[in-house]
Amino acid sequence: MDFKEKIAIIQDFPKEGISFKDITPLIGDGPAFKELIDTMAEKLRAQGVDYIAGPEARGFIFGVPLAYALGIGFIPIRKPGKLPQETVSITYDLEYGSDTLEIHKNAFKEGDRVALVDDLLATGGTISACAKLIELAGGEVVSVDFMIELTELHGRDKLEGYNVNSMVQYD
Ligand code: IMP
Repeated sequence: MDFKEKIAIIQDFPKEGISFKDITPLIGDGPAFKELIDTMAEKLRAQGVDYIAGPEARGFIFGVPLAYALGIGFIPIRKPGKLPQETVSITYDLEYGSDTLEIHKNAFKEGDRVALVDDLLATGGTISACAKLIELAGGEVVSVDFMIELTELHGRDKLEGYNVNSMVQYD
């Protein structure tokens, strides 16, 4: 299936000049969503992954069914103050200001193999912070997987040294 056909392009959302990739038609289409998750799961199966981890909220949309398909656990990466147990946190720069993400400190055993999943790779700021967070918690990031990659923003440059994969790409 051509998954691009199921992604809507919304011009000037959330602000002027941005061409927003809307995944809601894809995840709202049962057979398309199933084929996508099954395809991503097949690629990860070969890598012997112990956990899927992903940031809220859209990383959960793809990460949770992937973990289920592989029969492994899902580890959430969340905004501050949401996780009930002891956490490790990381603060990273945004275009304007900064943001913080957290993960449970006891999420992994040292050396657990983790696939990090999110919906979309733009500048790579969010996901490189997530990768560091997994490492701070003792996991090894063996794969970083996206539904969509915006290649013009060169997010891959921030993920040098990681195995980065995306299902569809836009210039
Ligand atoms: P980055 O940190 O610049 O790579 O931004 C990635 C995050 O921004 C992802 O978690 C996306 O959810 C969100 N994002 C940025 N652009 C888009 C878009 O066009 N469609 C959907 N999400 C987007």
